[in-house]
Amino acid sequence: MAWFSCHVAAAPPRIAGVKAVPRSIMKFERDYVADLSDEGGPLKKGNLLDIRLLSGKSYEGLELSDVQRSKEATTFRGLSFKPGKGQPSKLSPNTLYELRVQDGGDFDVVSDPAAKAWVLLDRQKRDTIAAERLMDSGHKLWETPTAEEAQAAIKSYDDLFDKMKVEFPMLNFVRQETEYFIVYTDMPAGQIAGYTANLDSMYHQLCTLFNIPRDTNIWVGKCPVYCFVNKEHFIQFEARLLNNADTKNAQGLSHSAYDGKVMTTCYRGASPVFFAVVLVHETAHGFLHRIRSSGRIPPWMNEGLSEWIAQVVVSQSDHVQGRFSEALPILRSQGSLGGDFLDDSGRIESWQYGAAAVLTQFLISNDANAYRAMITAIKEGYTWQEALDVTYGLKPEELAAAFGRSIGVPGLRP
Ligand SMILES: [Zn+2]
Repeated sequence: MAWFSCHVAAAPPRIAGVKAVPRSIMKFERDYVADLSDEGGPLKKGNLLDIRLLSGKSYEGLELSDVQRSKEATTFRGLSFKPGKGQPSKLSPNTLYELRVQDGGDFDVVSDPAAKAWVLLDRQKRDTIAAERLMDSGHKLWETPTAEEAQAAIKSYDDLFDKMKVEFPMLNFVRQETEYFIVYTDMPAGQIAGYTANLDSMYHQLCTLFNIPRDTNIWVGKCPVYCFVNKEHFIQFEARLLNNADTKNAQGLSHSAYDGKVMTTCYRGASPVFFAVVLVHETAHGFLHRIRSSGRIPPWMNEGLSEWIAQVVVSQSDHVQGRFSEALPILRSQGSLGGDFLDDSGRIESWQYGAAAVLTQFLISNDANAYRAMITAIKEGYTWQEALDVTYGLKPEELAAAFGRSIGVPGLRP
């Protein structure tokens, strides 16, 4: 996809997907680094470890026989295990996601590029500090749902489907379930597969971006999608069954609850490509809700990521290009992102969505590990300004200026 046919000083980055980037430790994560020197520490020889790899593969009860240590007491370069049937005798740390010491805590494995080695981050310590920080804003860390909670959630999604069938007796609905989604819709069955493939693609791309192992289910049960062919049915569904009298002319909505459940509601409308964009965009909001905690991501990041991923997945769409073309003259004439663009309250204006998406690409292509860490920090109770500072080392004004330079608008202000 070509970005511009006209000539600009610096072409904005093309919206592109991400490759997996290893988790590298960031400054604010240093507090959670586990001491590995202690004989009673997590990497004591003889410890039994349950290990999950980034590939999604898991091993249980591997007996640690040796640790390839590095210079510092907190770093290591490899783990060896007592040989066992079907078990690895050695694991390279760049393949590891997390390890649980049986009777001894949970740890994330991240690289420490400065030491050319790996460290363990103490999850319990991190969770305790994050939970305290979140309490001030009334938010909480998510816990992995139990099988019963997941089942109850899916039943509640199906119950809403039952009400939907009663509310719209004249419509023919189908229920299509994939690994992570359940789509309830009156669209013809043959039209659905392409859209669910987009949802799966979004899911895998965001897992890659946030370094979540492939087989992780981020939802409470699954993510339900209630989708109508016609706008009036969507409006009626929202009003009568979800108590939302005003859909604000939206083609889709993301509902997210404090209990962790999320749902996407939408209507197809006349443009299949734009509908694909809406569906991915709204569902990405749900994904972001489910990362780490209920903590709130500011609108410019939340909309920016949703627009960005919708463009990555629905690559035939030109919605970001269109919206950015609309935004660019405004950015040039105002010399600013709009004054309130980077605020964490309210909404962003329609013209700012394109800028938010291109700014997201700018952040991700500069340092995808920092982007992951920035979102995580916000989800752990940092303000977004603090999070930007401890990951990218930028103040909001510096971010605006750097972004401005990348799109040929020097001196851009927030
Ligand atoms: Zn949105």
